[in-house]
Amino acid sequence: MIFLVLSGKTLEEDLREIIRYRTHIDGVEVRADFLEDPAGQDWRDFFRRAGLPAILTLRRPRDGGHWHRPEEDRRELFLRLLSHGGFRYVDLEEDAELPDIEAAARAGGVTIIRSFHDFKGVPENLAARIRSLARMPGDIPKAAGMPRSCRDLSMIIEAFDSLRDIPKILLGMGEFGFPVRVLAPRLGSYLTFASPGGDRVAPGLIDPETLDTVYRYHKTGPATRIYGIIGNPILHSRSPHIHNAAYDRLGLDAVYVPFHVDRAADFMPVLRRLEMGGLSVTVPFKEEVIPLCARVEEAVRVTGACNTIVPGPGGLAGYNTDVEGFLAPLRRLYGRTEAGTTGAGVRESGAAAGEGSPGRGGFLAGIRACVVGAGGSARSAVYALAGEGARVLVLNRTPERAARLAGDISAALGRESVAWAGLDGEGLRKAEIFRDIVVNTTTMGMHPWEDLDPLEGLEFAGTETVYDIVYSPRETKLLRRAAAAGCRVVYGEEMLLSQAYRQFLLYTGRLYPNP
Ligand code: NAP
Repeated sequence: MIFLVLSGKTLEEDLREIIRYRTHIDGVEVRADFLEDPAGQDWRDFFRRAGLPAILTLRRPRDGGHWHRPEEDRRELFLRLLSHGGFRYVDLEEDAELPDIEAAARAGGVTIIRSFHDFKGVPENLAARIRSLARMPGDIPKAAGMPRSCRDLSMIIEAFDSLRDIPKILLGMGEFGFPVRVLAPRLGSYLTFASPGGDRVAPGLIDPETLDTVYRYHKTGPATRIYGIIGNPILHSRSPHIHNAAYDRLGLDAVYVPFHVDRAADFMPVLRRLEMGGLSVTVPFKEEVIPLCARVEEAVRVTGACNTIVPGPGGLAGYNTDVEGFLAPLRRLYGRTEAGTTGAGVRESGAAAGEGSPGRGGFLAGIRACVVGAGGSARSAVYALAGEGARVLVLNRTPERAARLAGDISAALGRESVAWAGLDGEGLRKAEIFRDIVVNTTTMGMHPWEDLDPLEGLEFAGTETVYDIVYSPRETKLLRRAAAAGCRVVYGEEMLLSQAYRQFLLYTGRLYPNP
């Protein structure tokens, strides 16, 4: 169940929130400590119009709330608000000694949620502490911890496993705790909380609509297969949107979740405990995960980057879907769709067998390409282009990095197919003869550097294909200039989607459905 946390100054404000999210929620938590005049509100009208199960909460500052008055006043307000008869639950903290409130609640058929909050971490004895919370049968224990590491997240998931026999509300706050909120139906939390107010209300809260539609909350349950992405930072990743939308279209019992991670190795116990079906990997872990894999495909070995992990009986298999994702739009433009290739450019047989790597046939033979940048994604782009027969020039601000990249790819392919230079006047002169395809793989042009153009000194003739792998914003300064000069342009978004299509196939064995 999703409970909307109401944090308005008046019940009228709270009712407006309920109307906005009604189709996504199963109940509300009235945070009476946010109300300016809780006793003076029209509670009967509120219950009538809300028409949803409601939790009464009157939170003290030490538990993350706004109730600054004496405990005696809190006791009186609890009694008064419970007397309206509209609440289904009341939240009382672990250390709150309010026997008359408990008695009034039990007499009125109101379930007591007995809670504790730890804003500093996750207690070592979490499961035992939760078990000790309920004072009477029927009370629901609630714990909210602030995981600070993958290890802490693992402890919360362990606690879920050992508390299978009792109803409980178990929440993870902050970035590390985000998956616990999203996975409540899968892990077995009685309910989860949501609010558009985000951190102002409680650390890591997301709005009910995103929770319900992007994270498929009401479509998940104890048997749901979990997929996800690790990174740092990660909560703004678009991958959950791409993968979850496809589970919806295909009716799969699956969910894809972002995991904020400190060390890739420390995430592996979480991956095993959740029996995850697949894991995407992004910055800064693409290298760090390679030694954790039992086997990797050639693209991973050559580029030194793994963005996709598939767990199997023989251990983890590592893939680099950026290579195929990068090539997919070029396949479309250069008109050679290989047999066994989907419209999205995914090699069905090779990918399913985990053998996807640039073909040696070379649909880009005779093409000269210039790649700007020599970072992680440049390695995938250069390997992809050279692997398909293009002659490539790498330009980079730090020329030594360009030299290393050119050397590594030429050595891996067994032919001198990659030249290099600095990103300067001399480099731009060299680029004059490597401009059938021009690719940006630097962060220049990406938010918040929208006003940067990595190739300011290069004028386009209009005959080039200009490809910017930056996808936020969709149209960079470089692409705007290229389109104005009459060039063919390729958006980074196309690569992002295409690499996800191959991941989807590797994870589920199914082709990504047409939107
Ligand atoms: P990275 O490893 O950090 O590499 C960054 C590159 O940008 C380096 O070559 C760096 O040059 C260069 N650079 C940064 N600031 C510069 C500046 N002011 N002037 C000149 N060069 C500069 O980053 P990455 O992981 O490769 O990612 C790069 C971009 O690709 C990001 O925008 C990312 O979102 C995007 N990307 C897109 C996709 C997709 O699917 N579309 C996939 C992966 C990445 P130095 O070597 O001199 O530092």
